[in-house]
Amino acid sequence: MQLVTSLTVDASLLRKLLALWDAGGDSRNPFEAVLVTPLFSSPSTLRLIREELKEKRGATVYFDSGGYYAQQGKIAFDQLYWELRDYYLNPDNQWADWYVLPDHVPVSTDTPEVVDEKVNDTVTAARMFFAEMPTRVQESSIAVIQGHTMDQLNRCMEVFRKLALGYVGFGSFGTSGSNDSINKVDARSVAGLQHIVRELAGQGIKLHTFGVSTPPLIYALQRLGIYSFDSLAWQRSAGYGKVYMPFMRAYNVSHRSTRNGALTKEEFELIRQRTGHRCPFCDDFHQLSENRLYRSLHNLVAVMETVSPSDKLSVQATAGLIAWKSQRYYKLFEEIYLGT
Ligand SMILES: [Zn+2]
Repeated sequence: MQLVTSLTVDASLLRKLLALWDAGGDSRNPFEAVLVTPLFSSPSTLRLIREELKEKRGATVYFDSGGYYAQQGKIAFDQLYWELRDYYLNPDNQWADWYVLPDHVPVSTDTPEVVDEKVNDTVTAARMFFAEMPTRVQESSIAVIQGHTMDQLNRCMEVFRKLALGYVGFGSFGTSGSNDSINKVDARSVAGLQHIVRELAGQGIKLHTFGVSTPPLIYALQRLGIYSFDSLAWQRSAGYGKVYMPFMRAYNVSHRSTRNGALTKEEFELIRQRTGHRCPFCDDFHQLSENRLYRSLHNLVAVMETVSPSDKLSVQATAGLIAWKSQRYYKLFEEIYLGT
């Protein structure tokens, strides 16, 4: 499964992250594929991604629609549509490898009627938007499947099949938090995702999942046969003083945390041993707990190691690790973790 690293960062932070990564000397590359939302990114960030990541390092670049900003009420859906259309139509902006079409994301507090309207908006917008795009963008479009019911998911897939898209996304995870800004998995979204995987099987259509990236969930997505996913959580969690470990939920390691449950150095070492995780950014636990940049890059490695597990860990051993520290995910995904 391909990690698409979400870069919702300003240019100076991105420059620092790249320099620190390079200094670490790790041969892996967490910036092989990156996602950026051009309507909500500064010109300097976009320039850095284009010149440094794409042109120098050969990264695959995904342009996101900004649906997540509409989900949080930061922009009206209609406005998003027009602005994104004008942006993609400008030949100067057609340097990405993939272009996400506008989608109207339902949230958990929406009534069934509102969800249905948003699904119709998504289908209509994708069809209209696609028709307005030049061939270059059409051939590299990703439409996003939305919906809470199987019927709604089918409605999206039917239209996207007619557009002959080779790559689609899924975006209707559960939401919570202020402004519905936190995506999370629940039984409904898992069932929906499994349905989509079954429907697309054998059709040569790649599937991307948007906006969820806690390691135990990433591992479930990988087991389900999802082609790619994007991760913003590596950086957001680091900002909250939290670290991931492969297959593990986030733990607070910042000394600023006054809450109980912060991870001690000893506990961290124990988890590190059992997961086999190594990276240059957590060798010094003090540095990890004090320095957000170290936490960010360590989290990216943990995400990469979840996607490409070491041969030493069997399916059973991995499921055991998740059961050990992430009971909620284990209960939700037990069959997927252990299934063949
Ligand atoms: Zn590490």
